[in-house]
Amino acid sequence: MEENIYVTRPYLPPKQEFDAYCNQIWESNQLTNHGPLVLQLQQKLQEYLSAEQVNLMVNGHQALEIAVKGLELTGEVITTPFTFASTTHALTLNGLTPVFCDIRATDLTMDPDKIEDLITEKTTAIMPVHVYGHPCAVEKIQAIAEKYNLKVIYDAAHTFGVRKDGRSLATYGDVSMLSFHATKLYHTIEGGALVYRDASYTRLFDAYKNFGIESEERVSYVGGNAKMNEFQAAMGLTNLPHMRQLIEERKVITQTYRRELQKVQGITGFYPERETGIEYNYAYFPIMVDPALFGRTRDDVYFALKKKNIFTRRYFWPIITDFDCYKNQYQGVSLPVAERAGQQILCLPIYNGLKLETVEQISTLIAQMSKQY
Ligand SMILES: *Cc1c(COP(=O)(O)O)cnc(C)c1O
Repeated sequence: MEENIYVTRPYLPPKQEFDAYCNQIWESNQLTNHGPLVLQLQQKLQEYLSAEQVNLMVNGHQALEIAVKGLELTGEVITTPFTFASTTHALTLNGLTPVFCDIRATDLTMDPDKIEDLITEKTTAIMPVHVYGHPCAVEKIQAIAEKYNLKVIYDAAHTFGVRKDGRSLATYGDVSMLSFHATKLYHTIEGGALVYRDASYTRLFDAYKNFGIESEERVSYVGGNAKMNEFQAAMGLTNLPHMRQLIEERKVITQTYRRELQKVQGITGFYPERETGIEYNYAYFPIMVDPALFGRTRDDVYFALKKKNIFTRRYFWPIITDFDCYKNQYQGVSLPVAERAGQQILCLPIYNGLKLETVEQISTLIAQMSKQY
């Protein structure tokens, strides 16, 4: 490729639309601390997600930490090893012990049949990830949580716009975290939110995002700073009306990859087993490279494409239990499905503005590496 092709590229809306919101900031002269644009975005997102409570934060990771603090979790939390560092760090940084549950091969989300064996008297919650926007086994996980009286916090960073049976995926569990980082499908430059039903959580979430301050005279908790500012909200308000179009464009990119790669033996996993009733957001395009069938490894594909200026990403690899900061604690933990996914996964470029011609070229390069070629 003449120009570098990256796995993703942030979406920038028409500048004059953003400017119009910035003009409002110059009028209000309020830059942060629950300003009018943050309140407006909160309301718009409540409508977009049909969510009862949306609590906006400076980024997704802080939102996740505040969910953990606000739910007052202790002891052990069952989570997935096949995710971004943030999920596990949010637990560890709050003095909790992550307990890793293997994933299912069909969609790489937490295997609900392996959760119960991991529950001990110290378990207080389950923290699964809707990885790449694939819905977790939400009903089964809910049933387990009810049986053992556990909280469920979803890392829903990948799910903006995904619906299951018409219901926004971000409304499952006790709390779901959304990330609005620049590289996510929907973004506020940096940003995030907690989505939940129980309005009684708001008091603690609000306190923890603002130094534990409850009123001018009362500081009741030891909290940090995780407030979203007005410029972030301005970007969020600008981007929101474009979502339908952005998802439509990505759907076409996804369909093009699928059409081109379908025939290539050993390249699989680019869509989960068809579950009906799911509207995807096409945020990512992960493939699995099975070296036995394909004839080359995932890393072979990664490096060959890199040579052609196509920068794919091997995420999620290494899996969390292989991170330098965690591996000593998790020796002997067996997570065969996650290990294999980590070895075989490759995220191909997908972003708004990626040309279909480029998608075809990338697919052809991959197909030409296969042993059947
Ligand atoms: C992006 C991401 C996060 C963190 O969100 P930030 O907004 O970048 O802090 C957490 N978990 C997953 C799975 C993510 O992809």
